[in-house]
Amino acid sequence: MPDIIQLLPDHVANQIAAGEVVQRPASVVKELLENAIDAEATVIKLLIKEAGKTLIQVIDNGNGMSRTDARLSFERHATSKIKKAEDLFNIHTKGFRGEALASIAAISHVDLKSKQEGQELGTYIKIEGSNIIFQENISTPKGTSIAVKHLFYNIPARRNFLKSNTIETRHIINEFQRVVLAHPTISFSLYHNDNEIYHLGSSNLRQRIVTVFGKKTNEKLVPINEVTDIIEINGFVAKPEFAKKKRGEQFFFVNNRFIKNAYLNHAVTSAFESLLSSGYHPSYFLYLTVPPKSIDINIHPTKTEIKFDDEKTLYAILHSTVKHSLGQYNVGPVLDFERSASLDTPYNFKDKKSNTPKITVNPDFNPFRSEKKQQWKSLYTNINVHNIEVESETVNASLFSEENTTNKTYQIHKKYIVSSIKSGIVYINQNLAHQRILYEEFLENITVKEAVSQQLLFPLEISFNKNDIELIKEIKEDLENIGFKFDEILGDAIIINGIPTGIIESQITIIIEQLLEDIKNDIPNASFSQLDIMAKSLAKSLAIKTGTILNLKEQEEIVNKLFICKQPDLSPFGKTTFITINIEEIDKIFNH
Ligand code: ADP
Ligand code: MG
Repeated sequence: MPDIIQLLPDHVANQIAAGEVVQRPASVVKELLENAIDAEATVIKLLIKEAGKTLIQVIDNGNGMSRTDARLSFERHATSKIKKAEDLFNIHTKGFRGEALASIAAISHVDLKSKQEGQELGTYIKIEGSNIIFQENISTPKGTSIAVKHLFYNIPARRNFLKSNTIETRHIINEFQRVVLAHPTISFSLYHNDNEIYHLGSSNLRQRIVTVFGKKTNEKLVPINEVTDIIEINGFVAKPEFAKKKRGEQFFFVNNRFIKNAYLNHAVTSAFESLLSSGYHPSYFLYLTVPPKSIDINIHPTKTEIKFDDEKTLYAILHSTVKHSLGQYNVGPVLDFERSASLDTPYNFKDKKSNTPKITVNPDFNPFRSEKKQQWKSLYTNINVHNIEVESETVNASLFSEENTTNKTYQIHKKYIVSSIKSGIVYINQNLAHQRILYEEFLENITVKEAVSQQLLFPLEISFNKNDIELIKEIKEDLENIGFKFDEILGDAIIINGIPTGIIESQITIIIEQLLEDIKNDIPNASFSQLDIMAKSLAKSLAIKTGTILNLKEQEEIVNKLFICKQPDLSPFGKTTFITINIEEIDKIFNH
């Protein structure tokens, strides 16, 4: 048998390595920004074209590279940052693997210009798919400019796998935010298709957070500062009243590197415990400084996960620091942290909100279908309790007029509409059915472009972070088609002067936040699917909730509108909207 093992040619090895390092344009952004920071730049400019698909360029005023280093920097495992294995345990730079530039150059066209302090001429290298096209002298400012063009040009499968420009831009902005928050003293700017998205001057941490997330952020921040033998914690948490329904701005940095860590996240969120209603997430910007030796950043190629030596202790310190700071700033009622809730005297209850009895509702419960023999009495338990927890207050009562005349429907348990039908009986889930109705209405409005809008008496200003503003700009036209009217879209806020009929003004913020979140969490490629998400999201937000009492007229409207829908049997999210039980099935139960 001949020998069959071969060494992979470098360009192939680089392409494979690129798969690990570069998932999307945002990964390139991260690597280039980090290199600029490692080169001690004080001003860093990021230019993006078409969500990074055509151009990602980072221009810095850092140390630059010599002619030889410029060429070497594109070799695999070429790094100036570590020399021996021990250095791995004492990392002070962002990069150290020496893989990024080699990987990026393997899958794109790269133009690098760089000059060191004191040199007369800099160097200019052009590389396409790992091949050096030329290297020549050039006059260029001190520092480095790396332009990455046509990412994945030679890996069509990867290129096709990229998401819409909206999504890829969002990833880039997320990455950019993580970097700029870790380095407030460095000036950063971001241009997308020649529009300036961010211009951040050198500042302190608080100012940086405020410039990134909007003026209103300032009043939300509670400072956190704690120094112990094994960790220093700095930064801010947002006051509980600014917590978000969706996981919002949550940033951990360890030694100025953004990381994700569910365990430490828990340490922070649990410090908010009694201050947040369930389902709300606190925002935080926390900077942990630990000895480099006590962490291992090597476990993940993109380095957002790291391992700590003593996670349990860190957890405890972080938890109590956050809790203490919240108490100190009189943010919540928590002043005496040591006292356990069970020691509260009854008097403490006088100021507390009474707890609504909670009924767990099984939406699939159908007594007629049940295999088990029900205790007949159990069918009646809970029937008199009217405190089913509702997700939000009644939204849409105004959709229907008050009158009622006929008597063909009943509402049971404030969630099902029951009606007698020819074949037997129908149970309609009011919430899911209404979602279906609204979903089809919205889809029609969006596609037919027929806005039904109600003018607001006073225009409403809602703050968003820049990332969300970008997203809103992208979907502005669709939002207008369903009845939103925008007075203005500013850098960190939108001004709305018209809303779709059926929406209550006080709900707009939450509806739009939910909508943005849904769009972010989906992965739409075609523009149609984005419209679809929008219609779904709004339908879900606006549908009559479980727990809303409906008069007969309203019940009838639901029944009638549901059954003229194109697909009445399923909610937009694929849940069953109604069930029918044949009279024969009922007969069977009695004759058995
Ligand atoms: P790493 O950052 O892990 O060392 P990279 O592939 O990202 O590996 O970069 C390789 C080397 O190229 C770096 O170690 C550094 O010496 C040099 N380099 C990259 N970008 C810059 C820059 N913007 N300014 C100066 N030197 C740079
Ligand atoms: Mg690097």
